[in-house]
Amino acid sequence: MTHLVVFLGPPGAGKGTQAIKIASEFNLAHISTGDMLRQHVKEQTDLGKIAKSLLDEGKLVPDDLVIQMLIERLSHDDCLGGTILDGFPRTLPQAKSLEKINDKFPVVKVIVFEADQEELTKRILLRGETSGRGDDTEDSIRVRLEVYQKDTEPLITYYEDKGITTKINAVGNVDDIYKEISKEFIK
Ligand code: ADP
Repeated sequence: MTHLVVFLGPPGAGKGTQAIKIASEFNLAHISTGDMLRQHVKEQTDLGKIAKSLLDEGKLVPDDLVIQMLIERLSHDDCLGGTILDGFPRTLPQAKSLEKINDKFPVVKVIVFEADQEELTKRILLRGETSGRGDDTEDSIRVRLEVYQKDTEPLITYYEDKGITTKINAVGNVDDIYKEISKEFIK
């Protein structure tokens, strides 16, 4: 059985930064669907060709494609000891797809990153200066924040109803936030 921990939160909340640190400290695999999709774009795979303009515009890649990509990735051996999902699920159908494979891949915990819009926009624009990401622009950020509110935020209630969420204040010092999140993994 591969336990899944979901990092849920708006773009720019620091999910990726914290996921890398937690995964290495607690020997977990780290799956970032955003990183995987960017790799597909770079390699110009069939999926990459579909994803490219969607990513740049800040829109979501269709559920069926992302779900298929994620489930294939979860079948790799490195996920056996537990896995952090960073950027998935982002929609209700994506969350439900995990329910279907729940026997093998139960979602045991959801860390909800909280930060205000102003802070998020500031961070992403700053990141854009060095990230080289085509979606770290003002137009794309606006779309990404809208998409987050509409499609992804409802997942917070979805997981709260299951009693597995922990909210983290994602504004502040990276190491302090890391300490907060680590508490959830030591228990
Ligand atoms: P951020 O959280 O900063 O927006 P990510 O790297 O998580 O960055 O995602 C970048 C982009 O990749 C998203 O805007 C979207 O286009 C695509 N993407 C990533 N994960 C998913 C997903 N689960 N479903 C659909 N699209 C996704």
